[in-house]
Amino acid sequence: MFQRSASLPGLTQKDADMPGQQQVTLPTLEAYLAAKHNRLAFPPEIEAVYDQQMYSYRQKVMTRVIVPTVIIYNLFLVADYLLVPGTFLLATVLHLALVTPIMLAAAFVYPRARQQWMRDLSASIIPFLMVAQIMFIYASNAGAGAGADQYQYLAVTVVFYMNVNQRFGFRFAVSSTLLLVITYLAVLLPGHSPFEVKFIGTSLMLSAAYLSLMANRRMEQDVRFNFLRRLRDQLRREGAEEVAKRDALTGLPNRRMLDEVVHALWADEARQDTLVAVVMADIDHFKSFNDRYGHATGDVCLKRTAGTIAEELRSERDLAVRLGGEEFAILLPETDMSEAVRVAERIRRRLEGIAIPHEAFGPRGVVTASFGVAAGPISAHGFAELLAGADAALYAAKRSGRNQVWPPFVSKGNPVAVLRGQPAADDSAAETAATAQRKRR
Ligand code: GH3
Ligand code: MG
Ligand code: MG
Repeated sequence: MFQRSASLPGLTQKDADMPGQQQVTLPTLEAYLAAKHNRLAFPPEIEAVYDQQMYSYRQKVMTRVIVPTVIIYNLFLVADYLLVPGTFLLATVLHLALVTPIMLAAAFVYPRARQQWMRDLSASIIPFLMVAQIMFIYASNAGAGAGADQYQYLAVTVVFYMNVNQRFGFRFAVSSTLLLVITYLAVLLPGHSPFEVKFIGTSLMLSAAYLSLMANRRMEQDVRFNFLRRLRDQLRREGAEEVAKRDALTGLPNRRMLDEVVHALWADEARQDTLVAVVMADIDHFKSFNDRYGHATGDVCLKRTAGTIAEELRSERDLAVRLGGEEFAILLPETDMSEAVRVAERIRRRLEGIAIPHEAFGPRGVVTASFGVAAGPISAHGFAELLAGADAALYAAKRSGRNQVWPPFVSKGNPVAVLRGQPAADDSAAETAATAQRKRR
């Protein structure tokens, strides 16, 4: 918890299992926004987030527009009936038995495809099949009269559909458009129509390709720019929230974060039967440390103490906060009393071990802290109650001579035996008790 960096949980959680996921930082984004925003590719780490968002957007669009698309496409059969009645039956079979099923299959595959080539294929096969079908019917109507000449103009609408509605990314749109144009021209130019029809068809197709690609490009630039601004706003907001939940001096989470985590923990129905422990820690004789070494050195001491506490916590669930002054609280979910005492003892020993000089009480004196522990089932205690319990235990630790954890021992076997120094099942607890007694002497 201590080292958590500002990332993009809201944006990336859903796709967190996708490969290539990187974190975007606010400075990278600000720098990029300040430079230029009309390009069609971001730096890799931003592009990865953009790609994922656009992909989930296109998934939704694909699912939503496939039925209207199928209906409109099949309404083209009216044109078959009016312009090329000779192949109406063939066209109906192509529409209903070939193109429509493949369109539906592609729309089914697209949102589920893991590989990029599968997505590309399933997206581009829809417009391609439409154009191929139109040009096939056109070619099958050689010598059938002027109706066929007009019929092939339908292919032009497909290019608009692809670039404006389906909204491929610009690069992919260019190659897909090229494929459509080539397919179209490859059938039209050697075909049976008079020169004027070929000329108009070619001009229509080329200008449709150009215009729709320009529209596609402009839309993509706008989408990209808005994406960047939204991303920046989100990062700023998250950054501000993150700052508000941290203690400025030590970098530890503060009381606000603790309250949030506590609220969530106590509200969680599934956790009601689990245990939770609260540890309170307070640096010993810190006032005299400040008096002797100065407030600035006092601050350094607080930072090192905070760092030590954070480093000694092993589970992601554990939360250490600075409550204020030289007081810290540690929340240990799913932890019983003896385990919490063990954690507190580990921290106590570690702090003593880093030996920050505190010579107010002798030349070999070091900074130490006292700890109070309380624990119990979530359902049986409010957090305030546990915190008060830990505070009372801390007071007892102070009264008993400081630099110790209170309660000083907990044994699952026989606490009294441990207290009297007899062998116990729980070695570490016995050790804690021994240490505490040594300190008190
Ligand atoms: P005890 O062993 O009983 O805990 O004694 P203590 O001197 O540590 O306790 P007390 O509560 O009397 O003193 C706490 C001191 O912590 C007083 C205050 O000047 C100091 N303090 C509180 N906040 C800060 C801070 O942010 N920086 C520094 N350097 N000192 C602080
Ligand atoms: Mg103190
Ligand atoms: Mg204090």
